[in-house]
Formats: sequence, structure tokens, C-alpha cells
Amino acid sequence: MKKIYFITGSQDLYGEETLARAAEDSKEMAAFLNEKLCTTVEVVFKQVVTTSAEAFDVCTQASADSECVGVIMWMHTFSPAKMWIRALKALTKPMLQLHTQYNKELPYDSIDMDFMNLNQAAHGDREFGFVCTRLGIKREVVSGYYKHDEVIEKLRRFAKAAVAVDFGKGMRVAMFGNNMRDVAVTDGDRVESEIKYGWNVNYYAIGDLCDIIDGVTDEEVDGKMAEYSEKYDFNTDNTAAVREQAKYEVAIEKFLERENISAFTDTFQDLHGLNQLPGIAVQNIMAKGKGFAPEGDYKTAALTAVLVKMAESREGATGFLEDYTYDLTQGEEVELASHMLEVSPVFAAEKPKIEVHPLGIGGKSDPARLVFDGITGEGIAVSMIDMGDRFRLVCAEITLIKQPQPMPKLPVARVMWKLKPDFATGTAAWIYAGGAHHAVVSTALTVEDIRLFAKMTNTELVVIDDKTELNAFEQQLDMLDTLAKLRR
Ligand code: MN
Repeated sequence: MKKIYFITGSQDLYGEETLARAAEDSKEMAAFLNEKLCTTVEVVFKQVVTTSAEAFDVCTQASADSECVGVIMWMHTFSPAKMWIRALKALTKPMLQLHTQYNKELPYDSIDMDFMNLNQAAHGDREFGFVCTRLGIKREVVSGYYKHDEVIEKLRRFAKAAVAVDFGKGMRVAMFGNNMRDVAVTDGDRVESEIKYGWNVNYYAIGDLCDIIDGVTDEEVDGKMAEYSEKYDFNTDNTAAVREQAKYEVAIEKFLERENISAFTDTFQDLHGLNQLPGIAVQNIMAKGKGFAPEGDYKTAALTAVLVKMAESREGATGFLEDYTYDLTQGEEVELASHMLEVSPVFAAEKPKIEVHPLGIGGKSDPARLVFDGITGEGIAVSMIDMGDRFRLVCAEITLIKQPQPMPKLPVARVMWKLKPDFATGTAAWIYAGGAHHAVVSTALTVEDIRLFAKMTNTELVVIDDKTELNAFEQQLDMLDTLAKLRR
């Protein structure tokens, strides 16, 4: 279980008694928060900080502790913030400034100067906040009584995002083959991805996988086929084609395990030694939480793995999808998202069917794949693009809908959605922002989660939602470009 440090700011002006009270109150609050958040993180009270040296010590400890994913800072009493400068410059973990009090209500009958001196977060958090702002430190400020449900939920959201960002540090991503030839948006700076997010992205030859495929036994394939039978309905007589995919999946799983890989890509342009493009093989792996994106799109694959981690234990589905085609009936415009094979069965509204159909791309045998209609509900689509001097996240709110009519001849899984605030604005904004045709779609996460990820990783974020207005949106993009140029 990863940890979040609970650190209390104070000083020594009010004497030992006040400091002892501050420590007691902090312990009680941290214990309460730990009880509430213990399924996500352990909240550990560290200390009441009264000097610059103590502040530096606790912040360097947080930075060096591999189990610590973030810190909660709270200024119980007034804490002169020059003493935090050196410490905050040494802090490398995400910070949440909790603007709260130990007491909920004012004790009107008994309040005196001692009470005010002890309980002055209103003062202390502003002083601390100024120094954070002056230092340009990105942090999340959460205000309200610490026992209130809304406050707890904000802390939980922060903790989940911090765990996911931490998961990304040192995460290994494998590309079988390279980026699809001539495609721009799926490409990216892998060195910068590692500098910024910790994603270690490496190329492997498909031959490395073929060697493992050759060693897969009939018994292993039988085992995988049994897994398929349990989870899916067979809608094909071509068992040989499905067994071929089962063999691929056994091999890919062995490879991911051996190389400690959390996300991977393949490409139909590099299948030397394979008879089929991996279909159900990668679909079934995606459903187990591994990140995947096709055509060498390592950014979407890695982001999927991180967002799946963030969504862990929440209701809803998270995975890769591609923008494909539209129904442009006026006022009723809907999008159909899919891929040529690889749609994660986490999006299935029904038990997926295993089918075998020809694939008009890649020049290989007919691949087995899962076919299903998609789930419904509120969701987001998130795309990460490389602007050359920075990464940008484009996050759009979408409403996943039931497909209006059956599509008996469509041989792939599909998900349909409506855009916000309307089709024309939502799609134009996405295109102005440079958003890709590949995205991570989630009905488990919201814009707030992506906002936290962007904040913790200092990534540019543009949001498309009910309030999006194109003129203002384009101006925002212009301003972000100008700022990036100034920062160069
Ligand atoms: Mn694609």
C-alpha cells in the first residue's frame, strides 16, 4: 500500500502546550483520513513542523521515500512560510494543501486568544499558499471541514491520481515494431516521455515474440481456449484461427511478464512471422488492465495503463478507442468508435462473440476477434499529443449511447457516443486542439481526474465540455502556444 504523508505546519511562538495540542489534533485527523482512504493509500502523520530544518527534512524524506506518492500539507497554526522555501524546492511529490480546521464550529461562548492562535489555518494556509504560488509549485488546494464527504472524496481523487502518476514512474512500455509509417499524431518523443512521466518506452522486433510463440505448447493453448469459452460466446467454426490467437496471447503474456511490461503496441505493418494480426489476443489482455494501442501509438498505450490504474476499484470501463465514423443526421449526430480489431471487452454491453472475418489490411490470414455492442453512460475521451516543445492532453466529455440500430455486417466491436456541447463544436474544438484519432475513453474517470494528472505532471490540458465556446477555445489555444514560445 502506497503512502501519503500528512504534514502539519506551525512555529514555536505559542509555546509547548500549543504545539502538543497541534500534534494531538493532527494525529487524530490523519488517523481519521487514513480510516477513510485506507483502501487507496495509507495516510501517515509525520510531524508538526516548526523550523526550516524540520521542513527540509520531512520534504526530502517524502521525496526519497519510494512508498510515498504524495503529501498533504496543513497549517494548523500560523507558519511563517520563508521556512518552507528550501523544503518546497526539495519536494518532488504531488502536494495537496488541505485548507481545513480541527474544529468545525466556533465555540462562541468560550472562544479566546488561545483558541484563535491554535486554530488559525485561515491565516496560516494563506501564508503557505503565497510561498507555493511564488515558487510556482503546482498543487491541489482542497477547502472545507476534513470530515465532510465532499472533502474526503477530493482527497481520494488526489490519492488515486498520485498513485497512478507514481505507477507511471519507471513503467515499461514495449513497441512491437515502430510507429505506423507516415502517421504523425501517434508519434512522439520517447526520451521526453521518460523525462516527464517516467515511461520507459522501447522497441522490440516482432521476431522476439515469434520465438516465444514457437515455444507455446498445445496444453497452454487449450488452457487459453478454456478461458475464452468461459468469458465469450463462440460465433465461428474456424477454431484453428482462434487457437492461433490463443497461442499469441500466451506468448504475449509471457513476454510482458518476463520484461515487466505494463503497456504495449503492435502494428499491422510489422507482422513478419505471424499469420494473423493479433485480435482477441490483445483484446483479452487489455481487459486484464494492460495498456495497449495499435500502430505503434505508445503514448495512448502508456496513458491507458496509467488511467486504468487511476480508475482501479471504480465503476466503469477504461481503454483505447479510435474515432471511426459518424451518423450526421442533423441534431442527432453520433460518433461510432471502434478499431479494425482491438477494442477492449471492458466496453462490452453484452457477452462478446468470437468471430473470424477477413481483414482488408496487412495481408495476413483472417483474424479472430471479439465483437460486441458498447456500454452506455457519461464518460471522457483523452488524447495525448506531442506539440514538439511540450505534450498536450485533450480531454472531452462524451455521452456513450446505445447503438440506434443493429449493425449485423460490422465485424468489429463498436462504441457510440455523443459529443459536448454539440457535435459541431465538440469535433471542431478537438480538431483545433490537435487531438488524435486515438484516445483513452473512460466511463470511470472524469475531467477532474485528468485535471489532477495534468497538474501533477505539469502537462498542458484543454477541456471540451458543456461550456466550450469555439472563439474562447481558439483563443485559449493561441495563448497556450504563445506561452510555450515564451518559455522556450
Ligand atoms: Mn488506429
